[in-house]
Amino acid sequence: MKHGVAFLVMLFSVQAEAAPDPARFLWRALSERGAYARAVRLADEVGARLAGSPAAERAVAWALAEMKAIGLENVRTEPVTVEAWSRGADDRVELVAPYKRRLRALALGRSPGTVAGGVSAEVIEVSSFEALRKLDVRGKIVFFNHAMRRSRDFEQYGTVGELRFQGAIEAGRAGAVAALVRSVGTGSHRLPHTGATGYDPKVAAIPFAALAAEDAELLHRALGRGKAQVALNLGCGMRGPIKSSNVVGELRGRGKPDEIVLLGAHLDSWDVGDGALDDGAGVGIVLETARLLKELRPQRTVRIVLYMNEEYGLSGAKAYAVAHAAELPRHIAAMESDSGAGVPLGFAMPGIEAARSIVRGLARPLAALGSSEVTAADEIGADLIPVHQAGVPVVGLQQDVSDYFEWHHTDGDTADKIDPEAISRASAAFAFMAAQLADSVEKLPRFVPPKND
Ligand code: ZN
Ligand code: ZN
Repeated sequence: MKHGVAFLVMLFSVQAEAAPDPARFLWRALSERGAYARAVRLADEVGARLAGSPAAERAVAWALAEMKAIGLENVRTEPVTVEAWSRGADDRVELVAPYKRRLRALALGRSPGTVAGGVSAEVIEVSSFEALRKLDVRGKIVFFNHAMRRSRDFEQYGTVGELRFQGAIEAGRAGAVAALVRSVGTGSHRLPHTGATGYDPKVAAIPFAALAAEDAELLHRALGRGKAQVALNLGCGMRGPIKSSNVVGELRGRGKPDEIVLLGAHLDSWDVGDGALDDGAGVGIVLETARLLKELRPQRTVRIVLYMNEEYGLSGAKAYAVAHAAELPRHIAAMESDSGAGVPLGFAMPGIEAARSIVRGLARPLAALGSSEVTAADEIGADLIPVHQAGVPVVGLQQDVSDYFEWHHTDGDTADKIDPEAISRASAAFAFMAAQLADSVEKLPRFVPPKND
């Protein structure tokens, strides 16, 4: 904390004349730690809040009360239909040959359950889709085994993550009866990492579960001795539509109330852990930003959206883009906080260089916080994809995610994993950029999605 205060004293002295208010709330973010307090409260008081569960509705009530306590205007819920998924009560994945061992595993979100009595088959290990395509896996269980490395950015999650995102489709298309994936995570605590997986209506949907890294190694060693057989017994599955909500609140703009800067995070989490880093941290960061901006009263309206079901459906993000389609042209920019609680490193933006160049100017005062760099990116924040596709420029805060994937989507994602100083720094950088976007004279150029045909 001492370093944080020193940085801010320096920043304040540099920025006092040019932009006194942002410098002041940067100081406040670090000294009052409001993002940390809110993230911890959500994780501790509500805990795991899988979309479609009663806990998710408790999170909605929690968020409404927080927004009202901050003094936001137009605090409300907006309807979202969640195509609910949940796991079974007695899910079990077991190595049955060459010897019997229970494997620590979690079914992946959207996975169907196994037929009554489970599925048991020989395991074929591959490390890539390319390797899979060269093999005959009909009637087998495909085991995707590719370790994820620690990294400061999302590069590994994007590349290794493909095995989880697309694995059921690729294995199903090849005729496998089920699939396993080594957890997409960097932890060595024997906790499996869950997460969503994709299905293609044209390919038979097969059960898909993630193994803890240690159990992936155990299975790998068993295969090294010859053939191995695994039995899966999963009671998970899609449960049909459930009515839920996004939670929305606003700070009406002082000068240009019709122009909107959207700040988002997702309210739901997985059913394991307490959803502290993912995305309690993001909820804390955007709510604290709202509190800090309330005193600043920017020119444009700042709208806070806490989305429902980012994790396995983007239901809230899609519902928002449909419900607000007519006013998306008046959305000047959007930011989302969904990268954990690590220190800020800068900003990333898809789209054209001219937009990044404007944001580079806005981020310059954050040099003292080590987060003024603005780089190119393909996509920022899953919840922002629908508004981005509609042309809204999006700006992502880049955070150090070296530790994020230790606990991401595991039972260990609890409030103690949040570093109070790191999340305070992240919230300061996020709030500063939000204030700049809400007050800047220059508008970012609209995003023009590339044509598919
Ligand atoms: Zn998330
Ligand atoms: Zn997540």
